[in-house]
Amino acid sequence: MKKAVVVFSGGQDSTTCLVQALSRYDEVHAITFDYGQRHSEEIETARRLASRLGIAAHKVMDVTMLGELAISALTRDEIPVSFELQENGLPNTFVPGRNILFLTLAAIYAYQVGAEAVITGVCETDFSGYPDCRDEFVKALNQAVSLGLDRAIRFETPLMWLDKAETWALADHYGHLDTVRQQTLTCYNGIAGDGCGACPACDLRSRGLQQYLADKAGVLARLHQKTGLGEKSGC
Ligand SMILES: [Zn+2]
Repeated sequence: MKKAVVVFSGGQDSTTCLVQALSRYDEVHAITFDYGQRHSEEIETARRLASRLGIAAHKVMDVTMLGELAISALTRDEIPVSFELQENGLPNTFVPGRNILFLTLAAIYAYQVGAEAVITGVCETDFSGYPDCRDEFVKALNQAVSLGLDRAIRFETPLMWLDKAETWALADHYGHLDTVRQQTLTCYNGIAGDGCGACPACDLRSRGLQQYLADKAGVLARLHQKTGLGEKSGC
């Protein structure tokens, strides 16, 4: 039996990874991290989606020590989310160590349930500012974790080279465009679905959606070319 663990925040990207995993693996587990992020609504959204999508198990882990250590607009209400980059060239929504911790914990979970893969929705195309979303980082951590566990757990990054329009196309490919559009939460102001429309996350998400809706056939063709997903393969 093929099993996978999806790092799941209840946002557009990880929900798209989850619906894809459900068609590619026999048993799918999701793991959600509570690090004191801006909106606890995120955790509730993840819980609701996990139960609607019918996965094998959904684990919500308390990692509030990350929020205690890492100072960011996502972990401190008094720091507003900014469109401007900071002096270090990173957005102020960068949470240092987040994916180092999340992928390591997800791999430990995968080890325990006998899963062969950990799936994460990180992406270089849109968020090149986050160093822990880079392909190079994920591959290096994968190697370190597999060595440390003495087991070849594979880190999969299905969205790594997709733009936001192609990520919408991927959700549509699996028949879940409306689920992702209406039931996920990406907005930094904690508003599900189409969100507040004004924050950087909503901006990225809605531009991708408009691009996809304006040229579905073209974007799907690009997605198929990049991923090798066939129209009739169903996977
Ligand atoms: Zn927003």
